[in-house]
Amino acid sequence: MQLPSSLLENAVNEFSKLPGIGKKTALRLVLHLLKQEPGEVQQFGEAITRMRQEINFCRRCFNVSDGETCSICSNALRNQRLICVVENLRDVIAIESTQQFSGTFHVLGGIISPLDGIGPDQLNIESLVHRVAQEGTEELVFALNPNIQGDTTIYYIQKKIKHLPCKVTTIARGIAFGGELEYADELTLGRSLTNRMPIDNYI
Ligand SMILES: [Zn+2]
Repeated sequence: MQLPSSLLENAVNEFSKLPGIGKKTALRLVLHLLKQEPGEVQQFGEAITRMRQEINFCRRCFNVSDGETCSICSNALRNQRLICVVENLRDVIAIESTQQFSGTFHVLGGIISPLDGIGPDQLNIESLVHRVAQEGTEELVFALNPNIQGDTTIYYIQKKIKHLPCKVTTIARGIAFGGELEYADELTLGRSLTNRMPIDNYI
């Protein structure tokens, strides 16, 4: 793509580094910004710079935070003895959007994946084990993706805390709402039967 200005080209290159943004989309976004008032574009740039420079990660759960402790960990109305273990921040946002969970989180920062060279030491696992022991956690709910890496991670953490009096659960796995039984894979359908629940809990 030949651009008439190196400034324009730089901006397009930066935008096209973002996930899901190709050169054409990057150019469209940059040209859109070029039409805005300089003050507005400055505000846009500052929001991004400040977000990256000033954001903190909660030292208890590793969620994003404006201070040392995130708004979930410092909320007395949330059950501080219930921890939902997730892979990343997107999962926290997804679960929070359901408004069905009133406990706290622990963001692992990834999952154990030997093929990708990710071992337990690179994740926030030690801090989770420490937390469960120190805080008298009553229940750990795993909300990890249903795949081999997710199961390996659950198995590893479960072994690490098995001496502690903490209940360990995982989110239900089964047929998606609106899905059709005949198109479900055997593993999913099988697990749905194993994890069947009383109808009172379902409705
Ligand atoms: Zn927190």
